Amino acid sequence: MAERVDVCVVGSGFGGAVAALRAAERGRSVVVLEKGKYLMGRDLRQTQDPKYFLSLAHTHWGGNVAVVTGKCVGGGSVLYGGVSLKAPSEAFDVVDRSTGTRSWPAVIDRQALGLYYQRAETMLGVNRLPWSQIPKKGGVLARWLDNLGYTCERAPYAIVDCLECGWCTYGCIYDRKQSLTLNYIPQAEARGAEVRPECNVRTLFSLPSTSLPYRFGVEYRDASGALHGIEARVLVVACGAIGTPALLLRSRSGLPAEMSWTHVGSNLTLSGDNLYVALAPEDGLLPTTYQGREDGGVISFAFWREKKFMLEIVTLFPGQAAAIGLARPGAPEPSRWGIANKDLMKLWSTRMLFIGTIGITPGDGRVDIGSTGEPTLVFAPSPELNAFNRDTYETVKMIVEGNGGELIGSSFEGPLSAVGAGSVHPLGSCRLGDDPATSVVSGRPGDFGEVWGAPGLVVTDGSACSAALGVNPSLTIAALGEWIAESVFTKYFP
Ligand SMILES: Cc1cc2nc3c(=O)[nH]c(=O)nc-3n(C[C@H](O)[C@H](O)[C@H](O)COP(=O)(O)OP(=O)(O)OC[C@H]3O[C@@H](n4cnc5c(N)ncnc54)[C@H](O)[C@@H]3O)c2cc1C
Repeated sequence: MAERVDVCVVGSGFGGAVAALRAAERGRSVVVLEKGKYLMGRDLRQTQDPKYFLSLAHTHWGGNVAVVTGKCVGGGSVLYGGVSLKAPSEAFDVVDRSTGTRSWPAVIDRQALGLYYQRAETMLGVNRLPWSQIPKKGGVLARWLDNLGYTCERAPYAIVDCLECGWCTYGCIYDRKQSLTLNYIPQAEARGAEVRPECNVRTLFSLPSTSLPYRFGVEYRDASGALHGIEARVLVVACGAIGTPALLLRSRSGLPAEMSWTHVGSNLTLSGDNLYVALAPEDGLLPTTYQGREDGGVISFAFWREKKFMLEIVTLFPGQAAAIGLARPGAPEPSRWGIANKDLMKLWSTRMLFIGTIGITPGDGRVDIGSTGEPTLVFAPSPELNAFNRDTYETVKMIVEGNGGELIGSSFEGPLSAVGAGSVHPLGSCRLGDDPATSVVSGRPGDFGEVWGAPGLVVTDGSACSAALGVNPSLTIAALGEWIAESVFTKYFP
C-alpha cells in the first residue's frame, strides 16, 4: 500500500515552502518532494563554470525566449537576488483583455494582501539597504536618473549582514541571503515535515471516493530511479509557473475532467523582463560590475505611473550568459572567442551596466508538454507586448545616452544574443480567478486556492498569480502562499 500523509507538497520554492511550514505547524504529517538537490551555503560554489549554474537551474525554451527557474530545495530562492518588493496597488487592478474585467479575484487587492506580505517579510528578514551600502553600479544608475530629473529609491532585500561578494545568483555560500533553506524549510522540518530532495514527480491522480479522506495520489522517482507512491488528503502543487502546468497537463488522464483544462498553461506572462546592456562613458562614473551584491540596490518607479514598468540594476555574469546560451536547443558553437572576447570581458567588469525592466505585460505565453511530458513554451508576442518592449527600449536608451553612455544591446541582441529574450519571473499559467470559465484556481472564499473541480488539490506558486505584478514577484508569491495555506488548512484541518 502507498505511503499516506496529510499533506504532500510538490516543489519547494516560495509557494511550496510556505505551505509545508503552515501545514506542519498544525501538527499534520507533511512530505515535500523536490526535483533538485538540497544544498546549503557550504555546498554552493563561486564559479562561472556553466555546468554548475545549469545544475541549479531549469532552462525552458520557446523559440528565442528563455525562461530560467530554480531547481533545488528552496527553488528560485537559492538563485535569486533577494529583492523583496510588494507589488504596487495598481498591479491588482489590471484588466484581463479576454474578459474585460479585473484579472484578480474580488477578494485580492494590495490592502488585503498586507497582512500576508508582513508575515512573509518577517520570515525572510526583509530589510532596506542604507545608501552607504549601495553598490557602485546602483550608484551610477541613481546618478544617471538624477541628472535627468528622475527619482529612484533603495531596494529591500531578504539578505542579512551581506558580505558583498556579489555571487548571490550562484547561491550564497555564506548563508547571508535568506533562501528558503534558512527559514520556512528548516522550520517546517523542525515541526516534523520531511523534505525529499532529488525526487521527480511524474504524475498526479485522483483517488476513488473509497479512499477518502485521502483524495490524491502522487507518483515520483527518487535519485536512484526507483518509483514511489504517496497518497495525501491535501495535495499542494508548487512547481513554479512552468513546472506546475506541465505536471497537471501530463497528469490530465488521472485528474478530474471538471478542471478548467483549457486554461491550464495559458496566460503565462514573463513579467516584462527586459535586460539592456549599456556601456558607461570611459571618463565618467564606472559601475565596476562585480563589486557589491549582485543586484544594484536601486530601483526606480519613475516610469511606473505612465508606462507600468520599473527599472533596476542586475548583474549578469559571463558564465550565466554562456550557460543559458549553451542550454538553448541546437545552440551553435560560441562565435565570440579570441581577442574580441577578451576585450568584451574587460568592458564587462569595468564599464558594463545591466539595466533590467519588470512590468505589467499581458499573458502572451503558453506552457504545453512535449512527447516526453516535459514543458514546452509557446510565446507569441502581442502588439501590446511589442509596444511595451519598444517603450522600455526607448526609455533606457534615453537614460543611457542622456548620460554620455552607449546602449550596446539587450538580452536578445548584441553581445548577449546567445541568451535570447528571457525571463526569470514567469507567472500566471494556472491563474486564480472568480470564474472557472476563465481561471484554473479558485479565488473565492470557501475554496480559495483550490483547483476548480478538484477539491483538495491546491496551487500556491507563481503560476497562481492572476496577472503580471510589475515587480520582482517572490514576496507576493510567498504572501499569496501564506493566504492560501491559511485558508486551505483551516478548511481541511481546523
Ligand atoms: C537568477 C534569478 C534571480 C532572481 N532574482 C529575484 C529577485 O531578486 N527577487 C524576486 O522577487 N525574484 C527573483 N527571482 C524569481 C524568483 O526566484 C521566483 O519568482 C520564485 O522562486 C518563484 O517561486 P515559485 O514557488 O513559483 O517556484 P520556484 O521557486 O521556481 O520553485 C519550484 C520548485 O519546484 C521544483 N519542481 C518542478 N517540477 C517538479 C517536479 N515534477 N517534481 C518535484 N519538484 C519539481 C523545482 O525544481 C523548483 O525547486 C529570480 C530568479 C532567478 C532564476
